[in-house]
Amino acid sequence: MRIGIGHDSHRLTPGGPLRLGGIDIPHDKAMLGHSDADVLLHAVTDAVLGAAALGDIGQMFPDTEEANRGRDSAEMLAAAWKQVTAAGWRLANLDCTVLAERPKIGPHRETIRGRLAQILGCLPEAISVKAKTGEGVGPIGREETIAAECAVLLERE
Ligand code: MG
Repeated sequence: MRIGIGHDSHRLTPGGPLRLGGIDIPHDKAMLGHSDADVLLHAVTDAVLGAAALGDIGQMFPDTEEANRGRDSAEMLAAAWKQVTAAGWRLANLDCTVLAERPKIGPHRETIRGRLAQILGCLPEAISVKAKTGEGVGPIGREETIAAECAVLLERE
């Protein structure tokens, strides 16, 4: 078995929708980044690559490359996951935390779990999505940024 951890954050900018976990959530702010800036999918991509010791998302998709501008992060995670499964690994479980003052993630939790399961080709039961606010404090609490963290466990196929 192999464990991987992932972390990502992006700056918030006025104007929605918010792309998070591979879905568009109606919101008055959006994430700023070279790609679609989906912090949750970026954290998951780094975690699965890290668990398999296959590098990181920045190596696979450099933000200096024009081809990656506005890129769909679901496509990036799918490409990374393809490398991981080709190396003989399958998902045991994935546990994620989104750190966002707003919007409330709870109403979108099941949709995000389903989307992650779809990309990773597993059952939603293997995936957990949790959320915390910043309690009004710091860059998360001031709604300057949204971050995501996750841990993944891989097992041999
Ligand atoms: Mg990122």
